[in-house]
Amino acid sequence: MLDRLEEQAPDALLALIKLYAADTRADKIDLGVGVYRTGQGDTPVFGAIKGAERWLVENQDSKSYLGPEGDMGFVHALMPYIFGSDATMGGRLEGMQTPGGTGAVRLAIALAKQMGITKLHMGTPSWPNHAQIIRDVALDWQAFDHANPDGTANVEAVLAAINGAGPGEAVLVHGCCHNPTGIDYSSDDWDAIGDAFAASGTFPIIDTAYQGLGFGMEEDASGMRSVLAKVPEAFICYSCDKNFGMYRDRVGAFYILSQAGAEGAATLGKAFSNANALARASWSMPPDHGAAAVRVILRDPELTQEWLDELAQMRARMRQVRERLGEAGQTGGVDLSPLAIQNGLFSTLPVSKEQVVQLREEHGIYMAGSGRINIAGLTMDNIDKFIGAIGEVTG
Ligand code: PMP
Repeated sequence: MLDRLEEQAPDALLALIKLYAADTRADKIDLGVGVYRTGQGDTPVFGAIKGAERWLVENQDSKSYLGPEGDMGFVHALMPYIFGSDATMGGRLEGMQTPGGTGAVRLAIALAKQMGITKLHMGTPSWPNHAQIIRDVALDWQAFDHANPDGTANVEAVLAAINGAGPGEAVLVHGCCHNPTGIDYSSDDWDAIGDAFAASGTFPIIDTAYQGLGFGMEEDASGMRSVLAKVPEAFICYSCDKNFGMYRDRVGAFYILSQAGAEGAATLGKAFSNANALARASWSMPPDHGAAAVRVILRDPELTQEWLDELAQMRARMRQVRERLGEAGQTGGVDLSPLAIQNGLFSTLPVSKEQVVQLREEHGIYMAGSGRINIAGLTMDNIDKFIGAIGEVTG
């Protein structure tokens, strides 16, 4: 039986990690895998997380099962950061914990299908796993191109997708710090996006995996919040794996916005009974440790401040790298200036697959075949080498 299976392509980024590890050049640069790195190239555990973990070691009194919804203390403690001071929007919002943002995206797409969404529209390029999950759930979907060649957002394309979809169809948008383009919408863009969702009846699915890595926790949430203020219903997928540095601990949450009033509250309850059933059939319940640590941080003002300070340091470092790249401007055949106005961990360079290979083989610079780079892989020590290599390979 097993021989009936077809070989699947390995994950391209994981293959790149192996190639990078085998490279003996001392000045090699890893811009592949999507984790934050300090100026020294490390991905350390946040001090705030260490503090929360110490607290858990001392105080956690049971590891008994929770339930498919996970740690609701975590789910609720996060809400003011995501949704603002009226964290439940008058009781219209509720959530559940998921294994990372991936689990939240999985639930959102499966639940969308279950409630009769017939088609999902998604701007591409996007996080490659979006398409994989949509295919796996077997939901019909359509891609549209949402980036201009100059590295800005093609908002007209986003609006056309939302307006063209209508009730019964959904559009997935990234909340901030788009993966892989680094493109964010302006507040005017978000206004128009929210208006389009409201007028068309298209169902919004907002995936936010990088809150706090762009301009700040509040700033990065404002676009999403402006959409939620205008629409009757929405799904929000959330990851804490980047903004708390929890990657392998798999910390995420899935939130649903329902209509106001008693009817809306009943609908919300029914929706979560379905989401819980989907979770039980997939992973039963999410892993606890990381979410518990985030809950401990968010309930302790000192740990919260430590976390926000650490996040601000990450942001400042990525901004410094982006500014330096922006100053380089036209470099060989590539204009690096848009990188200064893009946000978050990623940007995508307009380089060919051949140039990506050349950068790897001739310069020891490792990036995804799409030209996506992890901004945090650059430091003030290696950035000049990187800019020089881009100039040489694309000139
Ligand atoms: N959505 C987007 C846009 C992402 O880039 C990622 C992670 N790379 C995720 C969701 C999933 O995050 P997690 O690692 O928490 O599963």
